[in-house]
Amino acid sequence: MSGSLFALVRSRIPSVGKTLIETPAGETLTYADMLARTGRLANALVKRGVAPGDRVAVQVEKSPDNLMLFLAVARAGAVYLPLNTAYTTHEVDYFVGDAEPRLVVCDPARRDALAAVAEAHGATLDTLAADGSGSLTELAAALPEAFDDVGRTDDDLACILYTSGTTGRSKGAMLTHRNLASNADTLVDYWRFGETDVLLHALPLYHTHGLFTAALVVMLAGGSMLFLPKFDADQVMALMPRATTMMGVPTFYTRLLQHPGLTREATAHMRLFTAGSAPLLAETHDAFKAKTGHAILERYGMTETGMNTSNPYDGDRLAGTVGFPLPGVTVRVADPANGELLGPDEIGVLEVKGPNVFAGYWRMPEKTKEEFRADGFFITGDVGKIDARGYVHIVGRAKDLIISGGFNVYPKEVESEIDALPGVVESAVIGCPHPDFGEGVTAVVVRQAGATVSEADIMAALDGRLAKFKLPKRVLFVSELPRNTMGKVQKNVLREQNKALYA
Ligand code: ATP
Ligand code: MG
Repeated sequence: MSGSLFALVRSRIPSVGKTLIETPAGETLTYADMLARTGRLANALVKRGVAPGDRVAVQVEKSPDNLMLFLAVARAGAVYLPLNTAYTTHEVDYFVGDAEPRLVVCDPARRDALAAVAEAHGATLDTLAADGSGSLTELAAALPEAFDDVGRTDDDLACILYTSGTTGRSKGAMLTHRNLASNADTLVDYWRFGETDVLLHALPLYHTHGLFTAALVVMLAGGSMLFLPKFDADQVMALMPRATTMMGVPTFYTRLLQHPGLTREATAHMRLFTAGSAPLLAETHDAFKAKTGHAILERYGMTETGMNTSNPYDGDRLAGTVGFPLPGVTVRVADPANGELLGPDEIGVLEVKGPNVFAGYWRMPEKTKEEFRADGFFITGDVGKIDARGYVHIVGRAKDLIISGGFNVYPKEVESEIDALPGVVESAVIGCPHPDFGEGVTAVVVRQAGATVSEADIMAALDGRLAKFKLPKRVLFVSELPRNTMGKVQKNVLREQNKALYA
């Protein structure tokens, strides 16, 4: 494999006249346009003083030019560092201070707010708007398309992606050209992506899911994308007839299930629906299957590793599982206490190794060391098991494990029982400080509209189905669970809100 990610992208161009991206606003970008725009942008980056290895921090609205900027950074041999558009100035200040980029690119609306941030950390500031205008594209427009791509090796850094911050402060995952290229190529094969594919792309571009799992995979397959600025069920249903595939976070599917347009006929031509970034409820999987005939393919990945496991393309896509380790990726289960390997169906922490596994956390050598075993396996922090058939199951995160009265309680086991009860939409089970038990098992439940299921009803229903130590001490009701932009339930928020529950 050639070292540079862009060389690989270039080598897969089906024909330069082919459409790469189309937007609902009517913008169309061919592969030729991609070459021209990324060449101009790469020249602009060099003009701004971006040298190979320099970081380029990008906090912009999703657009075709946003993706072009990612590719241009690769062509310039620099390191792409996307930032969640929801991050405040204060948060961006932390990331810019941590990563010390040469250049910060932001939406024009944020220019004033971020000027001081860039200056404080010695970076240049440029703008790029969703419509493609801005100081960076203005500069690029005056520069030639031709650009001599900077050579990179497999082990050179291509990106720093900050983790979602679900369990604590986001960490910068250092991803090499090999990490990204190998994982995307594996997915092209595993999910059978090809030139005839048109992916409905409604994910953000600052996260591993939308940028690598979705956009990079399509480009390495020579396919096309319908680019939505964000998920909108009406827009998705309107564009569905022109798509062949869609990738989503679980909330996309729960929202589509409420859309009257989601029918067997409307999706009959679709080749593949995938889900990840957060657990897909078995109920959502089943409801989608019943309504459309499609078994959503659930897979499991992380910022640090890209995709690790996937349900099969052919064969059983089992609801509630994340499928098999991808080719070239090894997944094992270890006892979190001593690292001893566990057998089939035994629950422990998932550890992974493969060409997809990142090079470490940016400027956190100690943290990096802690998260790797001596034999090179990365300790994911996710708790799960591998069943006798080889399917990987995730039961939660190590940080969400509840220890009540000295016993381990895996939240998912309790959540699954509660979710199956009539009147319940979903639940999150957390541990809250408890004077007697250390942590008290606490269920936070979302009721179906009009349902009257009570705390006592839920307690009574679980009694006898779960061991006593797993039973919630309290059941609280909320109208919805707090989620971040990737659809992940923020249990830390729930724990904080309920920290004095048993005081
Ligand atoms: P942080 O590491 O900062 O706390 P995060 O782990 O949420 O945030 P990401 O890298 O975006 O940041 O998410 C990876 C995590 O998402 C995985 O470790 C896993 O917990 C969860 N995840 C991804 N796919 C699935 C899935 N299919 N089922 C269950 N969990 C999943
Ligand atoms: Mg994580």
